[in-house]
Amino acid sequence: MVDIMDLTTAEKPQWCPGCGNYGILIAVKNALANLGRESHNVAVVSGIGCSGKDSHYIRTYGFEGLHGRVLPVATGIKLANRKLTVIGMGGDGDGYGIGLNHLIHSCRRNLDITYIVHNNEIYGLTTGQVSPTSMKGMKTKSTPHGVIEMPIHPLALAISSDATFVARGYTGNIQHLTKLVEEAISHKGFALVDVLQVCPSWNKVNTPQWFKERIYDMNQAGHDPSDKLRAYEKALEDVMTGYEKVPIGVFYRTERSTYGDELPQIKDAELIEHDIMNVDMSKTLAEHI
Ligand code: SF4
Repeated sequence: MVDIMDLTTAEKPQWCPGCGNYGILIAVKNALANLGRESHNVAVVSGIGCSGKDSHYIRTYGFEGLHGRVLPVATGIKLANRKLTVIGMGGDGDGYGIGLNHLIHSCRRNLDITYIVHNNEIYGLTTGQVSPTSMKGMKTKSTPHGVIEMPIHPLALAISSDATFVARGYTGNIQHLTKLVEEAISHKGFALVDVLQVCPSWNKVNTPQWFKERIYDMNQAGHDPSDKLRAYEKALEDVMTGYEKVPIGVFYRTERSTYGDELPQIKDAELIEHDIMNVDMSKTLAEHI
């Protein structure tokens, strides 16, 4: 049995009062405790942004990487030791902006990683500039006349990139989010959990009241997550309804062999278990030197 305190570091979270990051942190720790994942069997990789502190606040192996590079680091850790539970945590700027290419390739590779994106639709750490998920027309510090571009649709992108688990949670419903994170960690393959996160300091549009009027649990409403085309439609429902309806829950789930399962070099033994002391390099060295 794992107690939530076993997963808690001595660091005191330094986020703004009311920040949705607190809810995500609690949900991830709850999920790990409920699943009995012990600290020494888990690695958390975070990126740059307010959410970058996650790896400091969860008592597991941790790595705070460069901006947008959560998934390459998580990939390396997982391929070195598939016995670890590997969780990537980053923001919408990190994952859907500078790191977007890694998301697409992680989806199609189907690495056995859980990726939790703190989607507050703004750049919080740098004090309120437009992000890839900011709604069209939204006024931010860097777009005083309103955002001109359409936002990224991360869930539709992940589904069309062949991700095997795609879900969305909300920081105002920790119980539901905990369940989603549990399902994502338990899923064998790449699991994207996009979390709609309030940022009371800089996002004055997507407030708790804004979400309250729009969010609904799509699985309770009868959505079948095995239907890929329907999942794609649902992933666009917010924008197609002019943000009148914002579904949360599991959009899509399927099974497929993982990248690690098919990679010949690690098929039979973890990379960290390979005997590197008794490798005969003479043939390779003779070829290249
Ligand atoms: Fe949270 Fe926003 Fe403050 Fe960052 S700036 S800690 S996202 S409330």
